[in-house]
Amino acid sequence: MELNRRDLIKGVVAGSAVAAMGVAGTAMAAESAKKDAAASSKASDAVAWDAEYDVVVLGLGGAGANAAVAAYEEGAKTLVCEKAPEGQEPCNTKASGQFVIATDDADQLYGYFSKLMGKFNNWDEDALRGMCEGAAGNWDWMVNTLGGDPELICPEVSPADQPDKFPMEKNQKDAWVLTEKPWGLDRDGYVYHWNEFPEIPESQHCLCLTASGTRFDASYYNLCMSAVNARVDGDRLTVWKGCPGKRLVTDGDGAVIGVVVEKDGKELKVKANGGVCLCTGGFEANPDMISGFTQLPYTYLQAGTMNTGDGIRMAQQVGAELWHMSNVSGYMWTYQHPGLTTTRFGGASAKNGIYAGLNGARFQNEQTATRHGRINIGGRWISTPMPLPAYLILDSAHIADGPLTSGFSDDNSAEIESGEIISGDTIEELSANIRAIGDAPDFNANGELDAALEKYNRHCHANDGQGEEDDWGRMCTVPVETGPFYALKIGPTLFNTQGGPRRNQFAQVIDTEGMPIEGLFEGGEMGSVFADMYNGGGNLSETMVFGRYAGQNAAKRAKGEFKGATEKAVMHSEKLAAAAAAQAKSEQVDVASVPDGTYEGHGQGFGGEMVLSVTVAGGKITACEVVSDAETPTIGELALPTYCEDIVAKQDPEAIDVASGASNTLRGFKAAIEDALKSATK
Ligand SMILES: Cc1cc2nc3c(=O)[nH]c(=O)nc-3n(C[C@H](O)[C@H](O)[C@H](O)COP(=O)(O)OP(=O)(O)OC[C@H]3O[C@@H](n4cnc5c(N)ncnc54)[C@H](O)[C@@H]3O)c2cc1C
Repeated sequence: MELNRRDLIKGVVAGSAVAAMGVAGTAMAAESAKKDAAASSKASDAVAWDAEYDVVVLGLGGAGANAAVAAYEEGAKTLVCEKAPEGQEPCNTKASGQFVIATDDADQLYGYFSKLMGKFNNWDEDALRGMCEGAAGNWDWMVNTLGGDPELICPEVSPADQPDKFPMEKNQKDAWVLTEKPWGLDRDGYVYHWNEFPEIPESQHCLCLTASGTRFDASYYNLCMSAVNARVDGDRLTVWKGCPGKRLVTDGDGAVIGVVVEKDGKELKVKANGGVCLCTGGFEANPDMISGFTQLPYTYLQAGTMNTGDGIRMAQQVGAELWHMSNVSGYMWTYQHPGLTTTRFGGASAKNGIYAGLNGARFQNEQTATRHGRINIGGRWISTPMPLPAYLILDSAHIADGPLTSGFSDDNSAEIESGEIISGDTIEELSANIRAIGDAPDFNANGELDAALEKYNRHCHANDGQGEEDDWGRMCTVPVETGPFYALKIGPTLFNTQGGPRRNQFAQVIDTEGMPIEGLFEGGEMGSVFADMYNGGGNLSETMVFGRYAGQNAAKRAKGEFKGATEKAVMHSEKLAAAAAAQAKSEQVDVASVPDGTYEGHGQGFGGEMVLSVTVAGGKITACEVVSDAETPTIGELALPTYCEDIVAKQDPEAIDVASGASNTLRGFKAAIEDALKSATK
């Protein structure tokens, strides 16, 4: 059935025409946004707008830039509002590795990405397909719209033979693969492969684009910004810096019709005829959201210092469903320099030491290679567990082997002097000094660190000092045994959060009923499609794909040319449940085919086995009696006679209403009915 969100909202709302144009911004916003369907089309007339555009993009990282360019290319009068003031670019896109996933085969990429969802079922097949099809178009978009240089993105000569252009310390030589006529080119070229889960065969089609052919040089960011700047002309594309989006404006049908932004200390209401594109990044810089969604008390930032989850909260206010909130691209252990807001993932080197957690115990292979912060535990790639705070423990034999982390003195002496590196002549003294700081008051209180070091050093001395592998798979060769001892507090850094408003294949934001919120689009890492594992390059791909879709579709909507989703978005979990129900139905015995007679059926209820006597006459269940049961007398046993009456009245076990508290009894009852009918046909 075709029904849209307006139909659903109209079914439940009532209220005044004035309230209908509610400027959503309080806890009541979602409610007020739904009020008074009758005034919906008039709502925007009632707002005293300060400015009017076809498309308003919030945030100018990668997603915002792509949305703006796409909206412009679609002919829309476009406004971009970026929270950071001119001259500051705190976004993740600039700091990132600059890898953008693309593919030569959308189906194969879909196969790969769907496997990255692991055991998670809260993802959307259509949205994921949209992502993969978009990734197949990324080469064309990067070269032909953003203005990327094909000779850098897909060089004809091997990058290994062009060290000036492609510094190999920033590249993996083997990742460049000579490919026949890639990207529809009429020449061969080198394509960068980065498949973090190579054991999945389809990952071979996970390819990467980098604007300069190398990484961590802001080249994709710069390309995006040049593409925006080249289009800033008169009225067609306007960028306001230092201008955060504050809240969305909705009409009585819950459609987004504009946004309130803060400019020069004043709140302005900006009308958005086609839609608002939320491109405000994740919630890396919002400590409460980090604690609330990631199950960690804190994390350290690498960039994204203004990504405080604003767009996520704005979308929540107008009824958006959130997904993937606990999924992050991380974690990696690192050191947070006092006074710095960001930390880099170079992190604290554990080449010669061990990690000790909150209580002093050792907990992982300190040298393990992570896949975007995930390590393999018990066969599953999960975010590195973080027993916070933790400490890198070293001894005097290796403390001077080079700076423990970027910015430290060569032999770490300055940091020992300043107390940033905690020291103690013995493990006992070191532990006491750690405890005294107060972050880990029980550190080594029961000899946890002593035991860890004893075991670790034993591995190092094994095989005549050649060392051996420990239980975590680390080859232990360098003991930690010569005092004085040192400790550096380490904590979790992450690249970015993945969670946010649920999206569909059109980059529309989805509400809690599964319907798109009209006039609201999103791109980038907020509301990422990744539910579990992640392949590097995926998030920038989401800036390019969903940013582009968001801008294009909002612009088309302004022209009345956008249809979008008209049916409820379906989660993969719902599809699985529907398939399971259909399978169960197909296995059910058709009562019409059962010969007349009385049959006994067995089922497992809440308290144990139940036995029913079921009579069939003329292809219908005509009687049902409980022969025996072990259900709770005041709950399940009370419900059984009602279930018997229901099955005779309705003939369909699935149509029986569950009695309060007696769902397990009902499950057993259905099984017993099925068993009785099956016994008749044996
Ligand atoms: C060190 C590092 C390396 C990475 N490497 C890669 C990589 O190689 N490949 C990859 O795919 N991913 C990588 N990532 C992840 C990737 O960079 C991000 O996920 C991606 O850049 C997100 O883009 P975005 O446009 O959604 O957000 P951002 O680029 O963070 O931009 C969001 C913008 O919104 C602005 N904003 C916030 N609130 C508001 C508001 N209320 N109103 C207006 N503006 C607002 C912010 O100031 C910011 O400018 C890396 C991340 C890091 C930190």
